[in-house]
Amino acid sequence: MNIQFCGATKTVTGSCFYVDTGDYKFLVDCGAFQGPDEIEAKNYEPFPFNPSEIDAVFLTHAHFDHCGRLPVLVKQGFRGRIISTQPTRDLANIVLLDAANLQKEDYERRLARPRNGKKGGLASEGSLYEEEKPLFTEQDVEEVYRLFNVYPYSDSVTLNDKVEFRMRDAGHIMGSAIFEFWIQTDLGRTRKIVFSGDLGQPGARIVKDPDMIREADYVICESTYGDRLHRDRNETVLELLSILQEAKKEEGNVLIPSFALERTQEVLYEINLFVENRLLSGIPVYLDSPMASKATNIFKQYPDFYDEDAKRLLEKGDDPFNFSGLHTIESTDESKRLISKRGIVIIAGSGMCNGGRIVHHLKNNIENKKTHIVIVGYQVKGTLGRRLVDGEKVVRIMGNEYDNNAQIHTLNGFSAHADEKDLRYWLRGFGHTPKRIFLVHGEEDIANKFAENVYQDLQIDTYVPDLNEIVELK
Ligand SMILES: [Zn+2]
Ligand SMILES: [Zn+2]
Repeated sequence: MNIQFCGATKTVTGSCFYVDTGDYKFLVDCGAFQGPDEIEAKNYEPFPFNPSEIDAVFLTHAHFDHCGRLPVLVKQGFRGRIISTQPTRDLANIVLLDAANLQKEDYERRLARPRNGKKGGLASEGSLYEEEKPLFTEQDVEEVYRLFNVYPYSDSVTLNDKVEFRMRDAGHIMGSAIFEFWIQTDLGRTRKIVFSGDLGQPGARIVKDPDMIREADYVICESTYGDRLHRDRNETVLELLSILQEAKKEEGNVLIPSFALERTQEVLYEINLFVENRLLSGIPVYLDSPMASKATNIFKQYPDFYDEDAKRLLEKGDDPFNFSGLHTIESTDESKRLISKRGIVIIAGSGMCNGGRIVHHLKNNIENKKTHIVIVGYQVKGTLGRRLVDGEKVVRIMGNEYDNNAQIHTLNGFSAHADEKDLRYWLRGFGHTPKRIFLVHGEEDIANKFAENVYQDLQIDTYVPDLNEIVELK
C-alpha cells in the first residue's frame, strides 16, 4: 500500500493525498494551491494519477485549499464518490460556485485586454495562456455536487471487504472531519491510517473541540502553526473590542479581511456578544461578502454541529450571527457606496486580500491614519495580507502603490487552527502506536521544526514529505 503526497507538502495549500491499496484507490482532499501566480499555476498541472481510476475522494472540509480541484478531477474523468459530512458538502458547493464565478469574471477581463501590443485589438481565447483560462465552470461544480455521499461523525462505514472508514470532528470549521481508515493489506493485516485534516483550536466558540484519536499505524497531520502559540482567545476578543471602541470614538474605519467560512461567523459571533452585553453600540457593521452571507445561512441550518456556547445562545433566542447594527451588503454598487462612510466596520473577503471586495476597501482606506486593519486569519507568503502583517510601508494594490498608514492588528487568537501545543496534545493521544507521523500542510521550515520537536517529545518517527513523493506504508 502506497501513499503519494500530491499537495500541501512543505507548504500550506493544495491538500491532496493519494492512497493506493492495490485494488482500491482513493484521495483524501483534492484542494487548490493558493498564493502568488506561480503557485496557483500548479492548479493547471496534470494530476500525478489517473482521475478515472480513483474510487473515492474523502473530503475533510470545505476550504478551497482542500476542495478546490474537485471540479478539475471530475472534468478529467473521476466518477467515484465524494465522501464528507453534510455541512461540508453544502459549504464546498458555495465555495466552488464562488470560485467558478470569480474565474469567469477574471477570464472575461483578460479577453477584454489588448494583446501583443496591438492597439485596440482584444485578446482571443487562443492568445491566452492555459493558466489564464478558468480552471472550471459552474456546470463542473454541479457535477461535483452530484457525486457527494454524506455521513455523520462517528459511524464506521465499510466500503468493501478491505476498507472501512470513520469521520470524527476536527473542530476546525463547520462540518470539518478527521478521517480514520482501517485497510486490510495483502498479507491479511489491518493497518490504520489517520488523516487529521485541518485541526481546530480547542475552545473555539462555534465548533466543538477536535476529537482525540487513540491509535493509528500512520498519521498524516497538519502543521500550519507548528512553530507558535496562539494568544489567548479571551485576550484576542478584548483586543478586538478595544479596536472597535477606539475606531468608533475617532470615526475611523475598521477593515476585517475575512475568510467566508468560520472566521467571519466567529467574528460576527463575538461582535454579537459585545452588542448583546452592551459593551459596544452605535458602530455599523457591514458584512460585504455575499459568500460569507451564504455560508452563515448554512451555519444556521446545522445547529447540531455547534458546541455548547453557541447552542446556549440559540436556546436563549439569540441568533449568534445577527445583532442590531449589522448590515448585509449584496450588490457591488452597495459595496462601492461604503467609500463615503466613516466610523464603520467592514468585513469582506478574501481572507488574504489577494482578491475580492476587501481589495477596494483597502485601496480607499489604507492611507488614512485612522484606519484599523484587523487580520484574523493565516496569511500565505506572497499575498497582500502577508505584506500587511509583515509591516510593509508601501504596498501595491491593483497596480498602484499606496502608503500604508493604517494601524495593522494581527489577532491570531481567532485562528481556526490548532497551535503548536494543541497539535502536540492531539498527537500525544495516539500514545506510542504510530510507526510514523507525516507532517504536511505547513511551510517547510515550520514543518521541519515541528517534526523535530514531535520526535524529541514522543520518540515516534516523523517525516516531512516532498511534493509528489510516494511512500510505502508497510
Ligand atoms: Zn481549513
Ligand atoms: Zn487547509
